[in-house]
Amino acid sequence: MKSLRGKGKLSEANMRDGLKMVEEALLEADVAYPVVQDFMARVSEEALGQQVLKSLNPDQQLVGVVHEQLIELLGPVDPSLRLDKDVTVLMMCGLQGAGKTTTCGKLARLIGTEGKKALLVAADLQRPAAVQQLHVVGESVGAKVYSEEGASDPIAVCQNAVKYARENGISVVILDTAGRLAIDEELMEQLKTIDRKIVPDQCFLVVDGMTGQDAVNSAKAFNDALELDGVIMTKLDGDARGGALLSVKHVTGVPIKFIGVSEHMDGLEPFYADRMAGRILG
Ligand code: GDP
Repeated sequence: MKSLRGKGKLSEANMRDGLKMVEEALLEADVAYPVVQDFMARVSEEALGQQVLKSLNPDQQLVGVVHEQLIELLGPVDPSLRLDKDVTVLMMCGLQGAGKTTTCGKLARLIGTEGKKALLVAADLQRPAAVQQLHVVGESVGAKVYSEEGASDPIAVCQNAVKYARENGISVVILDTAGRLAIDEELMEQLKTIDRKIVPDQCFLVVDGMTGQDAVNSAKAFNDALELDGVIMTKLDGDARGGALLSVKHVTGVPIKFIGVSEHMDGLEPFYADRMAGRILG
C-alpha cells in the first residue's frame, strides 16, 4: 500500500501491490477463488481512475473502495423474519452438523422474546438422536416440540405439526429437517417434497462457517434444489474469518439473515455487513 502514497489518481500500476494484498487477505479468509476473482475485478473497475481525495492517502482510498464493495456484495441486510401470518412456517435445511437443530432453538428463543410462540418440529428422522436433541433444545428455550413416536415419514410429521399449531394457537412453526454429511439425491428429494407439500413461508439454509471453501458447494446444491429465503451462518465465534459468507452470498444471492456466535441459545445475532467486511479483510 505504501506504493500508492503521494499518487494523485488510482491506476492499475499504483494499485497492483495493494490489490495483491487484498486478494491474499480474501483467500486467507477462505473466500472461494472464483468469488475472489470476481470481487477483484469489481474493485479494480470501481477504483480505477478515481481521484484521490485530499483528505485521504491513495492507500486509504483503495481500502475504502474494497470495504464498500464488500458491504455491497454481502448485503442487503435483512434480519426480519416476517412472521405476519396466523401460522408462519419456517423450514431449516443444511448439512448434518451445520447447526440446524441448535439454530432452531435459537430462533424459537428469539421469536419468544418478540412475544410469539414457536413450535419446533422434529422432521429429522435420519438421526435417531436428533428428535431427542430437539426436545432438549426446546425445553431450554421454553418452546413446545412436536414429534411423533416411531414416525418414518417426515412429510406427514410436518403436515401434522402445522395442523397442531393451527389448533393450538401457535403462530410460528420451525421445521428441523434432516441433514447428511454430504449432499445426496435422497436428501434433496426429501427436502423438495417437504417444500412442495408444506409450502413453507420461508426456507433458511444453515451453513457451518468453519467449513470455508466447502460451504460454497453445499450452498449451491441447496440453492439449486430449493427456493431459499435466507442464510444463517453458524460457528462464527471461532477463528473463521467469515469469508465463506461472501462465497455463499455470491452463489445463492439470498440475504444472510443471522450469524451463530455460540453454542448457547442466546448465540444468534443479526447479520451486519459492515462488521463482517472488516472481519473478512482482517
Ligand atoms: P445439525 O446436525 O445441523 O442439527 O447441527 P447441531 O445443531 O446438532 O450442531 C452441531 C454442533 O455444532 C453442536 O455441537 C452445536 O452445539 C454446535 N453449534 C451450532 N451452532 C453453533 C455456533 O454458532 N457456535 C458454536 N461454537 N457451536 C455451534
